[in-house]
Amino acid sequence: MGSSPIDVRERPPYAVDQFRVKTEYESDLESILISEGEIENRVAALADDISEEYATRSGRELYAVCVLKGAMRFFGSLTPQLDFDGAFSEGVVRADRYSGGEGADRTEVRFLERDMIDGKDILIVEDIIDEGRTLRAILERLDDYDPNSVEVAVLFDKEARRAVDVDIAFTGFHIPDEFVVGYGLDYDEEYRNLRHLGVLKDSRL
Ligand code: 5GP
Ligand code: MG
Repeated sequence: MGSSPIDVRERPPYAVDQFRVKTEYESDLESILISEGEIENRVAALADDISEEYATRSGRELYAVCVLKGAMRFFGSLTPQLDFDGAFSEGVVRADRYSGGEGADRTEVRFLERDMIDGKDILIVEDIIDEGRTLRAILERLDDYDPNSVEVAVLFDKEARRAVDVDIAFTGFHIPDEFVVGYGLDYDEEYRNLRHLGVLKDSRL
């Protein structure tokens, strides 16, 4: 659907000192992978793709759902740029992944307004897909409801790490297998307010 993702996997990253970055963050970052301007440019293109897709559907009633908390920046930039005829509402979902002993892995998914889902065209808006387990769990949770349709928009895709298959309609960037922070993404709740997408130094992980 729409424009192609931007692939930055083979592109040399930027030096951190080329950017104005919060002083405490400077020493923690290995590089800047994608600048805020590049991200915003791509988000605008995704907004066009999404608008175009839902404009072609009849009786649409789009319910855009932000996956807390990492997707908050992406969501806040994306949804005001959507432009199509039809009802539009916003919501949030929390997905908490617990890795227990013996490889046990479960994701607790909570939609905060469960009565909003039935009959709507659901657009799940997520910051990053890695193994794919979080999005898979969110999509499986939607099986308990009766939405009209379900699509996924993901800003950053670390495809190399995929363990379970997830169908993604709208992808922002293909990124390398590095731990990234900024533009809403955290490490231990830090770095969400870094404007750009940066790579954390191994020594910080
Ligand atoms: P998955 O279930 O696809 O393996 O993981 C997705 C979730 O893991 C994302 O929603 C995000 O919270 C976290 N995650 C995966 N990779 C990264 C990363 O490089 N940086 C940050 N900050 N979070 C990540
Ligand atoms: Mg997330």
